[in-house]
Amino acid sequence: MSKVVKEVMSANADYVAGFGDKGDLPMPPARQFAILTCMDARLDPAKYAGLAEGDAHVIRNAGGRASDDAIRSLVISYKLLGTKEWFVIHHTDCGMETFTNEVMGELLSGSLKTSSVDSAGWHDSHSGGGTSDGKYINWLPISCQEQSVLEDVKRIKSNSMVPRDIPIYGYIYDCKSGNLVEVLEATEAGKVS
Ligand code: ZN
Repeated sequence: MSKVVKEVMSANADYVAGFGDKGDLPMPPARQFAILTCMDARLDPAKYAGLAEGDAHVIRNAGGRASDDAIRSLVISYKLLGTKEWFVIHHTDCGMETFTNEVMGELLSGSLKTSSVDSAGWHDSHSGGGTSDGKYINWLPISCQEQSVLEDVKRIKSNSMVPRDIPIYGYIYDCKSGNLVEVLEATEAGKVS
């Protein structure tokens, strides 16, 4: 068993010991909202948004982008599980700002090893075994957080499966302070219409 697996199993045993009555929680989120946010390890939505088990849906991917799959989850979130308000939360210092689709395609062409980064950008080891498949994917990189939050709120809001009475709020999480800063233009674009 790897060190990480041992650590996770040990932590889980502690969690189970204090699980209490959480086994009785209903499936629909009690506070009836959902958050779409980045997978960045520094972000803990349960902490930055004050969530307990059973409170809300948290949908995470690289960048917190409104990908087709994120929208799939949001539609299930309201249609089957009753959420009524949604947040799109991107963040400062996001890894998605450090590359373009072209760069990612080139890195994967070089090898499948983890690439390195310095002030000149990303570098691959070119150790062989790469693939051109990455050149056919939109990795949804970000060049400006305010812009990406606005784009994603608009993309979700304009989806034919999303009802007009669900407000969508746009925010940027500040990794230096933990503060959630509203992107007013995005929240305006996501208001009930
Ligand atoms: Zn990120």
